[in-house]
Amino acid sequence: MAKEAVSDDLYCYNVVQSNQALEVNNALTSAKWDSNPDIKLGMVAYYGVPLNLPNGENFGTFCILDDHEREFAQKVKDLIDLLRKSIEISLSLVHEFEEISLEKDKLSLEIEELDQFHSLTNLPTQFNANEYYSSKAHENLLILFIRNVQAYEIRDNLGLFDAQRFTKVFYSKVKSILPEGAALYYISNSEMILVHDVEQAELLEVTAQDLANAVQQVFAEPIQMNNKNIILPTGIGCALSYKNKFSFAEVLDMATVACTQGTKSGKHFHIFNPEQQKKHRRHYEITQQFAYAFEHNEFYLNYQPIISGSDNQVVGCEALVRWKNEKLGMVFPDEFIPLSEKSGAILQLGDWILDEALSSLKRWQQEEDNKNFYISINISSNQLAQEDFSDQIIKKIRAFCVNPTCILLEFTETAFLGHGPLVLKHCQKLAEAGIRMALDDFGTGFPSLSHLHDFPINVVKIDKSFILNLDKSERSNQLVKGILSLGKLLDLTIVAEGVENQDVCEQLQHLRCDYMQGYYWNRPMLQQDFEIQYLPSVKQNNIEK
Ligand code: C2E
Ligand code: CA
Ligand code: CA
Repeated sequence: MAKEAVSDDLYCYNVVQSNQALEVNNALTSAKWDSNPDIKLGMVAYYGVPLNLPNGENFGTFCILDDHEREFAQKVKDLIDLLRKSIEISLSLVHEFEEISLEKDKLSLEIEELDQFHSLTNLPTQFNANEYYSSKAHENLLILFIRNVQAYEIRDNLGLFDAQRFTKVFYSKVKSILPEGAALYYISNSEMILVHDVEQAELLEVTAQDLANAVQQVFAEPIQMNNKNIILPTGIGCALSYKNKFSFAEVLDMATVACTQGTKSGKHFHIFNPEQQKKHRRHYEITQQFAYAFEHNEFYLNYQPIISGSDNQVVGCEALVRWKNEKLGMVFPDEFIPLSEKSGAILQLGDWILDEALSSLKRWQQEEDNKNFYISINISSNQLAQEDFSDQIIKKIRAFCVNPTCILLEFTETAFLGHGPLVLKHCQKLAEAGIRMALDDFGTGFPSLSHLHDFPINVVKIDKSFILNLDKSERSNQLVKGILSLGKLLDLTIVAEGVENQDVCEQLQHLRCDYMQGYYWNRPMLQQDFEIQYLPSVKQNNIEK
């Protein structure tokens, strides 16, 4: 910035020096100012005020000048003062902003540093790894994603402080077996990655395996802490990139997924499997869509006829849920029911299925012809594990005013595992209310004879895997014969599902099977099609959908 030389008889110089306002009405008539060099420039009258920086330091002056004698009115002085104040306020805002920016820069630097190094273990973090390995050509890269799979249990057992000490041990143990050229990076208190750039591609997999073995060995011995011997189970996921095929971030993502894949299938060491990842991704997407499906009424029921073995009459049907999702298209129950059980969505879904099926039954039973027509409804073991399951069902049946003996609830054998006394209580209550119960997929699970004895079961559905090849397999034939005689002995109704052709149908009739179900008659059908074909007395304009 250009600077002007100042002398002590300049107006502004005096204002700056005294840090006070100065008023000169006519310099020509004043002994103090008559030699002022500004007069030559026509500055005869002057009114000026000092301008200060926010820290009090003088910055300059704000002044008004005239080339003739002049009285400065108070209004003019007030205006000058107002302008001074507004300039000073603007200056303080600029100053504050600069301070904030400085503070922000300092903070981002600290965050960046935090991102780079983890204080507890003093290890570089994944950001550091990403920066390093992304900027450098890596021919053959391997990443082991190492997880302490019992981190939460150990933390709850040791307490927070000792758990942190334990974290240090966890890291230092792996550090102790680190070969030359490999590096360790912090991911979380229970996870780290070991990265190795291997020169020869053919050594990549064997190096990964050796490193995983070394890690497992180092944790084979229990770790002593607070007089406790703690075994640290690790899960190791591995991903490899031959000849620069994948970026560092991609290999890291694959190793992370591999670790989870391995843990889920009970393996300590697992190399990334793209097929498995595809499956996981699909399962994740399905689970994510449940909420949308409920909101947009995407679920609906299909009905499959059940035929009497003695006279070929349709006596009832099984309600089977269907889902057409906007994003995923048609998703079948074999895929989404187990996922809904895992996510908990089955409770809401099961409730909806019950309401929907009971409302259909009510509609059908309004016609005299269908008074004994029955509906089979599949019940998940998660529903049975609810304390109030039987009360809820009984309440619903009363609310819909349907005949309870026309309702068959189908349970699989897994429903009886784990919640024995509760399930028994539900079954007894349901039986008292007149509701019938079936054991579905009979023959596929655990030896189930005790279930037939202990629980008030009325119906057994022989699994379709035995029926599908009944006409070809002697073994299936003997098994079905055995189940049918057992049924007679225990006074059970037997349903065979999966009947696909006339031969199987005739064979089952010959064996005096009570009921049959399968593609031979029909696949599960839309409600309207089912009613038109099997329940013609139901008026079609009644459908309230
Ligand atoms: P599931 O209860 O054993 O149902 C019978 C399955 O066999 C149905 O498959 C049906 O379409 C199929 N099926 C019927 N006849 C034949 C045949 O002749 N040949 C062959 N190959 N298959 C036949 P879907 O509808 O795909 O259901 C599969 C499973 O999903 C059901 O097995 C059941 O475990 C579950 N599921 C279906 N709907 C529901 C539901 O509403 N609630 C619950 N909790 N589970 C359901
Ligand atoms: Ca079933
Ligand atoms: Ca079945």
